[in-house]
Amino acid sequence: MIVMKSSATEEQVDHVIDRIRSVGATAHPSRGEEVTVIGAIGDREHVARLGLEGAPGVDKVVPILKPYKLASTQLRGGERSVFDIGGAKIGGEHFALIAGPCTVESREQVLDTADVCLSAGASMFRGGAYKPRTSPYSFQGLGEAGLRLLGEAKDRTGLPIVTELMDVRDLEPVLEVADVIQVGARNMQNYTLLTELGRAGRPVLLKRGLSSTLEELLMAAEYVLKEGNEHVLLCERGIRTFETAYRFTLDLMAVPVLKEMTHLPVVVDPSHAAGRRDLVEPLSLAAAAVGADGIIVETHPDPEQAVCDGPQALVASEFAAYAAKVEQAAMLAGKLPLRESAPAVA
Ligand code: PEP
Ligand code: MN
Repeated sequence: MIVMKSSATEEQVDHVIDRIRSVGATAHPSRGEEVTVIGAIGDREHVARLGLEGAPGVDKVVPILKPYKLASTQLRGGERSVFDIGGAKIGGEHFALIAGPCTVESREQVLDTADVCLSAGASMFRGGAYKPRTSPYSFQGLGEAGLRLLGEAKDRTGLPIVTELMDVRDLEPVLEVADVIQVGARNMQNYTLLTELGRAGRPVLLKRGLSSTLEELLMAAEYVLKEGNEHVLLCERGIRTFETAYRFTLDLMAVPVLKEMTHLPVVVDPSHAAGRRDLVEPLSLAAAAVGADGIIVETHPDPEQAVCDGPQALVASEFAAYAAKVEQAAMLAGKLPLRESAPAVA
């Protein structure tokens, strides 16, 4: 990691980047408020031999000791990453409420839910067109037809779209509508998919694998970051433990601990962790209070009729009351009100 002086010029930064590339390493500049830091990923010996300590504008050269480099807190000198995704801000003092149905079912269902989410202060809209189902006999999603409906929801509400990509063969149509591409828990370690998403450059919401450690989550994020895509949102969605009384164990300790480990924003998904509607609100409040940068939650106009994950979906008519409570909890943890981080409504 090459820390530039606060007085360093753009030419000096470019010079260091050129030197790093000259030994076959990649350079990942990060321009902070105070200083610019350049992550050099490659052979440590080769980079060391460049003697960059003496280059003009360089303050110091510090090794990043963690196995995750670009994701590490150290790379940003403790500064939090803040992303602007289609007008929705997340990270730092910005809290994002991401809401929508588990899966896209019909035009009416999608547009009605999107309207509810918008008016309740949500900043992004979620919905799956490709669904990773445990059973191959379950509904697998509407595919491209579903993506088109998400596009309609975006045109109508202005809310950025979060949708899952399972197979890189579907990347092109997904890129047409997705502002954030979700990588599901079951694909967290699909490294070829992560690399392609790194190259695609679109923000990624990376869900923690069912039995993955935080370090494994960060190493997965590193695959995306390494390709030059800086926009990775991490998502805690419940992990497997010995407990059988509920679906997954929502690991809320992951939030403050990830924030020590990484500058990337941390989102919590209480819906898939709980699998039960009654647990979703208390878990959301706890997640917001413990410092999550966002929540991704499922809601449906008529959960009993939902094609998938109905039992955990919040009832859309109750969503605004829920959102108001989550906002309060997030503000207790130092976040701005929801509307200050949501896209401006036209
Ligand atoms: C989802 O968000 O719809 C989903 C299937 O989540 P996960 O990958 O966390 O199970
Ligand atoms: Mn779901």
